[in-house]
Amino acid sequence: MFHFKIFLSSLFLIAFMYARAQDMARVRHNIGVLCAPEMAGRGYALSGDKKAAEWIAAAFRQAGLQPFGNSFFQPFPLTVNTFYPQVALKVDGTVLQPGKDFIPNPVSGKGRGKARLVCLDTLLAKGDSLALKNAMQTSYKGKGVLFRMTDYMQLLERCPELLPKLNQAKVWVGTAPTLTAHISGQALQPPFLIVHSKNISTVAKKVAFRIDSELKTNYITQNVIGYIKGSKMPERFVVFTAHYDHLGTLGKQAYIPGANDNAAGVAMLIELAHYFRQHPPDFSVCFIAFSGEELGLLGSLHYTAQPLFPLANIHFLWNLDLIGTGKDGATVVNASLHPQAFERLKTLNDSLKALPKLVPRASAANSDHYPFTIKNVPAFFIYLMDKNYPYYHHPDDKAEHLPLDGFSGLFRLLISACLAMF
Ligand SMILES: [Zn+2]
Repeated sequence: MFHFKIFLSSLFLIAFMYARAQDMARVRHNIGVLCAPEMAGRGYALSGDKKAAEWIAAAFRQAGLQPFGNSFFQPFPLTVNTFYPQVALKVDGTVLQPGKDFIPNPVSGKGRGKARLVCLDTLLAKGDSLALKNAMQTSYKGKGVLFRMTDYMQLLERCPELLPKLNQAKVWVGTAPTLTAHISGQALQPPFLIVHSKNISTVAKKVAFRIDSELKTNYITQNVIGYIKGSKMPERFVVFTAHYDHLGTLGKQAYIPGANDNAAGVAMLIELAHYFRQHPPDFSVCFIAFSGEELGLLGSLHYTAQPLFPLANIHFLWNLDLIGTGKDGATVVNASLHPQAFERLKTLNDSLKALPKLVPRASAANSDHYPFTIKNVPAFFIYLMDKNYPYYHHPDDKAEHLPLDGFSGLFRLLISACLAMF
């Protein structure tokens, strides 16, 4: 028989227990450490990824996790373009700040020098034949080519014959109303900068630039993996994942700290590890901090190609990425793939009053759950939402800006859900 009152009071007790088990001061501290300048944006210049991985392995050990074999690390190679030590730009004599006023395009090769600017006709993006004729008669050799980023793809599509001429330029300068950094495994010539529209006009005359980019090939990074062995069903696993890598440095002057993306997710892994160590369940619980996510889910692709235990033994996987906000609730990716699991999660969320709302979303290849999903591992990817948190892939995605409104609620929900859904 089901006793609703007992159910409610035990929920209250469980909620109280969870609140004690999770330590917001430690969460804030851990996010701060992962976002500190020493971690260099958890990218691949200055060994940012390695420093972060060492720190996470130590935190896993301290929480009481054990490695598979004798190391928490699963190394794998990748190719990545990095920006260090100089990323500098002057427009008509005004020095611009990397990260705030301009960023290198992630595929930018290295280069330095001065160049006169030639502004491309916006009609080229529409394939205008007269504009193309004029552009084909212009010499770009040794010059800086200036264009709007919104025109860029159409321009290449509609005027492919112009590309060899534009490639003769000394530098490409795209303009954009917002700057969103990314990371790439390519380094192309000529150097390519993206300048915030407020810092450059179509009549800008000249630029001076220096981009020290280095394409690191066969760079060895690592996933960090630990687990708690289940007391009754050690071969069955619940898995929590969060990527720890981010976008690294923009020269010596700037780096992208990635507090929301995804220091907060790693901090959640550590809190869950502490909780499950103190309350060991019947099944095993595995924690994976992935590298290479920002380069195209490379860490999770590597893991699913070389798993440390059979993927079929994963009962459910919870991927956490962008969980530093939460005022507007959470989105659950893969909800439509697992409708019953989503309904149970919603019911639990309502009874725990954990998060303001859960929004279902279809499958999407947007984070580390995806390589598991395509190998038929049941998984949800949960991200929290706050329409007032504007920092995405930006130097201001800082630890001190994170509201963490949904962190406690998500922590309680994850524990309840993974126990209830087992
Ligand atoms: Zn990201």
